[in-house]
Amino acid sequence: MNFVPDYLPLHHDVLRQFHALSAYPKSDMLQDIRNQFEVALVEIVNENTGRYPAHLINELAQEYRSLNVLASEIDAYDRQLQKAKSNYKLETDQCEPITLESWDQYRLNRFKAPSLEQAFTKLDAKTSNSKPDASGDQLEKVFVALPYIWEDPTVMLPEDMATAQQEEDELKFSGGTIELTCPISFQPFKAPMISRKCGHVFDKPALERFLENQTKTCPQGACGQHVNMKDFVPDLVMQFRCLIHTTKKQKTRASPDASTDVVD
Ligand SMILES: [Zn+2]
Repeated sequence: MNFVPDYLPLHHDVLRQFHALSAYPKSDMLQDIRNQFEVALVEIVNENTGRYPAHLINELAQEYRSLNVLASEIDAYDRQLQKAKSNYKLETDQCEPITLESWDQYRLNRFKAPSLEQAFTKLDAKTSNSKPDASGDQLEKVFVALPYIWEDPTVMLPEDMATAQQEEDELKFSGGTIELTCPISFQPFKAPMISRKCGHVFDKPALERFLENQTKTCPQGACGQHVNMKDFVPDLVMQFRCLIHTTKKQKTRASPDASTDVVD
């Protein structure tokens, strides 16, 4: 004869604490690691202005992609954990509170409480769709763009062409290259921000002055999109274009090659 029920509903206070559980601490740890990759890339650019260091960058890109796979697996696992927790909470909420009378009912299996163990044994990150979503991943874009912008920081990439084609005039105006200056301030980019709505890039201080915390029409010529600061994210590709451009300029100034020495 059972004196103790197989399962009992969790007490409300315990349930609340239990609900705060997460597969990983909601810290900025992953972002910190991603920032380290960016720092490593900046160092590579600073130290190699000659030939494109393909093996260094490919190795780093590979590491970065495995990190992203891991991150999306953790995300998938966390989503399943949240779902299991809310299912468990839903079932527990429908249970009779534990009293002397209900205790016997639970003991005799007339009242059923959900099994905590069963709720979580099915969790598996690998079975769910956990492919990393690279569409908004700025560093991934840098890895793709680097082989091209290494040779020419103003070169147009296929995705730039797509934006430029919508504004044919501008393509003619810029002669098919990417400007490394802000279209608002006409100064070289210091903190380029790209609009997720239209792909236009502006320097952060100039953009902030222009938008004044409001939603306005995109400052780029014929764009017409309504944008506010929340539509913009740092444009890492542009940042690396500028970095490569200035590093090359500095290096050629520091060690002028034979051709610049010739004065007639
Ligand atoms: Zn725009």
